[in-house]
Amino acid sequence: MSKKFKLHEIILSETVKAILAVLLPIILLTAYSTIISWNYNIPIISVMTSIPIYIYGFLCIPFIYLFVRKYYIHKKMNEGKHEHVGSIVRSPVDIDHWQYNDLIWIIRTNEYTLRKNELPTINEATRIKNILDSITISYEPKCPKCGAGLYFQEHDLYYSYDCVNPECSFIKRTWESKNKMRDIAKKQYKYSVESKFLEK
Ligand SMILES: [Zn+2]
Repeated sequence: MSKKFKLHEIILSETVKAILAVLLPIILLTAYSTIISWNYNIPIISVMTSIPIYIYGFLCIPFIYLFVRKYYIHKKMNEGKHEHVGSIVRSPVDIDHWQYNDLIWIIRTNEYTLRKNELPTINEATRIKNILDSITISYEPKCPKCGAGLYFQEHDLYYSYDCVNPECSFIKRTWESKNKMRDIAKKQYKYSVESKFLEK
């Protein structure tokens, strides 16, 4: 599954990019200084010290860019990652699904709420409210193309969800942590049900 991206990942890996970003200015400056010192027969160190400081600064830009980007992405990937998102639900029952960030999130309630809703004295609005108060989102999102499970991986600069169905090519990469997506999916689902059934 992840084989398709192996080479791509190596070439584009931030470590390789960072090494290149550091090595390239050094190679360029050394090559330039060597040529000049050879041609004019002056010591290489004099050539290097005669290069204006802004040239050195300019050549550091790719490295600074990569550093800032990595910091920014990691900050984004950590949003909501370690948040406590509810306790384990006893006897969960799948009732619906919701699509968020291309993934299918399973909406669950529990048997206790369903039993409570069977009481004849409860009206429809209360039933919906009971369900909405009880919903949790499964930790395992599903493939939007074929409905199969997804293989989750945490990479250095992104999260990936690969469809486990060998016949399906679905791959999702995202910066959003699973808990953040579950939280948003839950809120969006609640809002959609509320605006459909509970609006006056
Ligand atoms: Zn699939």
